Amino acid sequence: MTALHGTTAESPGAAQSLTDGDRDERRDVAGDLEIIAIEAIPFSIPYAKPLAFASGAVHVADHVLVRVHTAGGIVGTAEAPPRPFTYGETQGSIIAVVDGIFADQIIGTSALAREAIHARLHRTVGNPAAKAAIDMALWDAIGQRLGVSVTELLGGYGTGMRVSHMLGFDEPQAMVAEATRMRETYGISTFKIKVGRAPFTLDVAVCRALREAFSDEVELYVDGNRGWSPADAERAMRQMADLDLLFAEELCPADDVLGRRRHTRTSPVPVIADESATTPGEVTRELLGGSADAISIKTARTGFTTSQRILHQCEGMGVEVVMGNQIDGQIGTACSVTFGAAHEHTSRRAGELSNFLDMSDDLLAEPLTISGGVLPVRTGPGLGLVIDEDKLAHYRIDI
Ligand SMILES: [Mg+2]
Repeated sequence: MTALHGTTAESPGAAQSLTDGDRDERRDVAGDLEIIAIEAIPFSIPYAKPLAFASGAVHVADHVLVRVHTAGGIVGTAEAPPRPFTYGETQGSIIAVVDGIFADQIIGTSALAREAIHARLHRTVGNPAAKAAIDMALWDAIGQRLGVSVTELLGGYGTGMRVSHMLGFDEPQAMVAEATRMRETYGISTFKIKVGRAPFTLDVAVCRALREAFSDEVELYVDGNRGWSPADAERAMRQMADLDLLFAEELCPADDVLGRRRHTRTSPVPVIADESATTPGEVTRELLGGSADAISIKTARTGFTTSQRILHQCEGMGVEVVMGNQIDGQIGTACSVTFGAAHEHTSRRAGELSNFLDMSDDLLAEPLTISGGVLPVRTGPGLGLVIDEDKLAHYRIDI
């Protein structure tokens, strides 16, 4: 690739214009990245250990593999994990919207024209996982064509992230045992506790059991998935004020507007907005309305492009962020760490990057590995992902 001209030693400070060669190279990049086809492939992989939480449970990863093919023979890849009980997307709806609406809107456009592509995709409301997977597949294609990793393209801050593990619903001692196993096997020392069942007979007891089991050796925070009322949230947080929690996430619905503002105001720890803050507009509404103090960023629902907008919005406002998990498989998790490790602001907190450990299998030829509590980022080019085609053939459900 020809380097663009800038200031040189021979002509310090002199403005340089593009040569014909530079222009040809740029045309080649854009041309090679012209989108010629999009595939949306449904696959289903059972969970070895299903995850249960206040708004649902996941027993099988019914995800969609999205592949963007370009004129230069590059294939950008990402994964769309639908969450029917949260956003209404399903495996079938993702395939329908990609094949029936989005493909026609972007075929013939260069992957470099990301703003134009987003403007077209966002004519359609909703469908966050479908849009996010297309966005991340485009970045993968761009990185591959340029011969650099996506994490470098995005920001290039670090080489990995500390991992936070999500503890789904179970009896208190079973959740302590799960956390112990994660500490001993993977070195993980940050845990997100799913609450939102029975605040005063079960949820508080679970949190207390975990704190007592690990003293100050672990970081703990809670996620209610809208399972408590604002009054219960306020009372439960008061009862847990001595547990040294990091955050409290989405304890009650955003539509409980005034109750949620009151609970956020009285909470002893910052309140994270997750499923209530899935667009830059919703982030503004939750933060300026006083209904949240911090934001969960999930690449599975905002891709890289919109996640970066939300990240910079939060950074500019002095608001903390956490890299969340949409119960991603390994491809989605690789995307999360690609984004999280790329930026300083997302690297401050442990990212939720371990749900794939509970799946019975996955599609990557080289599996992700967590060691010493850290998930390293793939070094590229692009996202650095190779799909095991035999496994894809085994788990895809469309042929
Ligand atoms: Mg959440």
